[in-house]
Amino acid sequence: MTETESNLYDVVVLGAGPVGENVADRTRAAGLTTAVVESELVGGECSYWACMPSKALLRPVIARADARRLPGLRQAVQGPLDTEAVLARRDWYTGDWTDDGQVDWLKSIGADLYRGQGRLTGPRTVSVGDQVLTARHAVVVATGTRAALPALPGLAEVRPWTSREATSARSAPGRLVVVGGGVVATEMATAWQALGSQVTLLVRGKGLLDRMEPFAGELVAEALAEAGADVRTGTSVASVTRTDGVVQVVTDTGERIEADEILFAVGRAPRTDDIGLETVGLEPGSWLAVDDSLRVDGTDWLYAVGDVNHRALLTHQGKYQARIAGAAIAARAAGTPLAQADPWSAHSATADHESVPQVVFTDPEAASVGLSLAEAEAAGHRVRAVDVDMSSVAGAGLYAEGYKGRARMVVDLEREILRGVTFVGPGVGELVHSATVAVVGQVPIARLWHAVPSYPTISEVWLRLLEAFRDN
Ligand SMILES: Cc1cc2nc3c(=O)[nH]c(=O)nc-3n(C[C@H](O)[C@H](O)[C@H](O)COP(=O)(O)OP(=O)(O)OC[C@H]3O[C@@H](n4cnc5c(N)ncnc54)[C@H](O)[C@@H]3O)c2cc1C
Repeated sequence: MTETESNLYDVVVLGAGPVGENVADRTRAAGLTTAVVESELVGGECSYWACMPSKALLRPVIARADARRLPGLRQAVQGPLDTEAVLARRDWYTGDWTDDGQVDWLKSIGADLYRGQGRLTGPRTVSVGDQVLTARHAVVVATGTRAALPALPGLAEVRPWTSREATSARSAPGRLVVVGGGVVATEMATAWQALGSQVTLLVRGKGLLDRMEPFAGELVAEALAEAGADVRTGTSVASVTRTDGVVQVVTDTGERIEADEILFAVGRAPRTDDIGLETVGLEPGSWLAVDDSLRVDGTDWLYAVGDVNHRALLTHQGKYQARIAGAAIAARAAGTPLAQADPWSAHSATADHESVPQVVFTDPEAASVGLSLAEAEAAGHRVRAVDVDMSSVAGAGLYAEGYKGRARMVVDLEREILRGVTFVGPGVGELVHSATVAVVGQVPIARLWHAVPSYPTISEVWLRLLEAFRDN
């Protein structure tokens, strides 16, 4: 291996997912030379096997469900979805799993792309094939996650689906068992049930979406069952085999289920097992703990941004971290001190702690920001939950006949601000940013009276929430 002057960069980024791309964008904008190393496709999991294809599959499902809730339109959308056309649109969104467009974009910002598995070989150095890249200021690990599979004997021979197959499948399996109760499991169960599969959802816990307010999982489970899926809670897989192409599942309660495919959506593992962490005194395969500037604890040159640091496994939150890490690297390279203590600083990822927004694109949608009631109580805040049935809102009734939905705000009684907000119902995904502004801005609840929602929109749920708080 030879190290040449051309392999010396200010910043080396490992992984060109949305997060690595955004770090590079910021460091390049600050005038720092930047190399980006990618072992698969520029654009990462999000572009090809996660956010984009899953939302492309779900959008027609949700649009049809919305249309079916409107007299005058309902009759026009009684038939099945055109699965082939839905999959073709999904393929378009993934660029048919080619990354030319995103490679061109990397070029346009002046970052150098190295294709191959990047590995740290010591402080500030990364190998890619027979090249060694050296970083003057920072190496950024943005290698993301992969699906975690349970330790079931013989699972590899079953060829189970993970999120990759679930988002890239070429046709709907006749019978699909989905194992898991989180976001990926519920979204993929919603999509494939509507695209023609008979879905059986096996959930180990008491309900779905257990990181959100309990009513989110309850409403989504109810709707999945109404759509024809078989939702079984308190059930886990004891064994799974595949014989003559057919998957045979035995549950811990002794039930036997046959299926054409089985999807495991039971969690994520960091892609840090083969990136040379041992050469810098870190544990291969571990999540990388970072401070609020995204710098790995105990180093002054290594950053871990996005999924890989386990702060919030979401693209928007990873891109937020990328903007902050990029700014922090640029400031440190210029010798400017970071104002870590300032909550408004662009060098401090404060929103990761208690103000993360998330939308689950099921039918109904579930959208939340900040802390659930249980999380707020566990964090020691003195709080009260205020709940509202969203069907009482004029805009909701207009949006869908028989609108079913619920909203909750968690009010901090000492500071009179919101710690968290959750909406569940058709069309609520676009509502969550209003709540994000209120939570992140720590807007005093009395001021929210003066944030007047337009009539007749679903946003009027804010008035109902505030009235319910005032009157009780
Ligand atoms: C099915 C599904 C749906 C999702 N939907 C949403 C959604 O709607 N909204 C949302 O916000 N989030 C969603 N997520 C989460 C989202 O996909 C992740 O939060 C996001 O992809 C994280 O971005 P990242 O850049 O950190 O990692 P990734 O997107 O995983 O990118 C990491 C990149 O690093 C590369 N890499 C890994 N190791 C190396 C190495 N050693 N050398 C070089 N390159 C390497 C990989 O090939 C990959 O390209 C979803 C996840 C799943 C599984």
